[in-house]
Amino acid sequence: MSWKIEHPCPQCGAPVEMEETDRIFKCEFCRTRLYISPRESFQFFIAPPRPDLDVFFLPYWRFKGVEFSCDELQVTGKIVDSNILAVKLPHLPPSLGVRPQVLKLRYVAPGVPGRFLRPELPFGTAAGRLSARVEGRLPDIFIGEIKSLIYSPLRVKGEWIYDAILDRPLCPAQDGPCAGLEVDETLQPRDQISFLATLCPRCGFDLEGEKDSLVLLCPNCSTSWQAREGAFESVACDFLAPGAGERPDIYLPFWSILPGVDGLKIESRADLARLANLPRVVPGAWEKEPPRFAVPAFKVNPTLFLRLARMMTFLSKKNDRNVEVRKISQHPVTLPLNEALESLRVFIASIAHPKKSVLPHLSQMSFALKDSRLVYLPFTLRGEEFIQPEIGISIQRAALSWGKLI
Ligand SMILES: [Zn+2]
Ligand SMILES: [Zn+2]
Repeated sequence: MSWKIEHPCPQCGAPVEMEETDRIFKCEFCRTRLYISPRESFQFFIAPPRPDLDVFFLPYWRFKGVEFSCDELQVTGKIVDSNILAVKLPHLPPSLGVRPQVLKLRYVAPGVPGRFLRPELPFGTAAGRLSARVEGRLPDIFIGEIKSLIYSPLRVKGEWIYDAILDRPLCPAQDGPCAGLEVDETLQPRDQISFLATLCPRCGFDLEGEKDSLVLLCPNCSTSWQAREGAFESVACDFLAPGAGERPDIYLPFWSILPGVDGLKIESRADLARLANLPRVVPGAWEKEPPRFAVPAFKVNPTLFLRLARMMTFLSKKNDRNVEVRKISQHPVTLPLNEALESLRVFIASIAHPKKSVLPHLSQMSFALKDSRLVYLPFTLRGEEFIQPEIGISIQRAALSWGKLI
């Protein structure tokens, strides 16, 4: 289920409709092509049919991704697509329900009439309140391609609070957010997005990338770029060359991450191997090697995500041959680096053997980013599978196209 976003073209003013995951804004009228850079996470609102100053906007966390649960036996993940109330108001709907098909979202911006309630609960807490908690169980870990806020409009009519879209009563006004509302419970909306020209900051050439890609490539000067705080910044990238005679059909991106781990002793590659209790002797050189992780930077099902992360992290062969970026067809990067960093917690739980030794530390662990690179790996299509013959990885074609649909 996906929301649609509507925004006027900054160039010609024509209304443009986008998908929630779109990063490239394309106006069919004036041919403008721009990159959308959010301030932090995206914030949207649903416009009521009659906008006015009496409207209250109630915040909901929007999450689309995977919810991982860890216990002593296994790590399991399930796909989650939800909207969760971000304030502690028990009488109001805990979720936005099934409205996305009909309503369009707009970016929160200064000048929207109404008052925006400040989100009280961080995303993890709000999500924890919604999912059924089992006593003594570890909190679930959410790794998402989408973590945004959606504000839904309310209105007070007499003694009742109404849903301002459906014009339906929700709860008595004295139980709701409007009773004794203080100024500090509301937000001053700020501009949430900036538009960037999709031109290479180094050489001015048109940057390439699919509309949902977080990283754009310059085919002219072989550089890659991601948006941060309203500007493009360079992303360190390696494009690994195919083996002799191989003609790759696609390059798949992986985040290669060197973290500082707090809360568990992982200071070398050897520590990681011991944690996983690998069925082979840990090479002495690994004691001096930093603990680099590699996780998929694209959407796949949770089991495959963890399997690929394990294969890539414990890769013993090193392939340092780089190719020129201009000749390749790359799969879009859709998992943000900060989510990839957070996924290390799940990954560590998934490789730990026995898990009992790690689980008590899981919630307390923290990861600081020391270094990151994108590594693009060449794959060749054989039948219904993408194969990486040198490393021995195969991925069902359906698993990649499924990832694009969720
Ligand atoms: Zn336009
Ligand atoms: Zn360039």
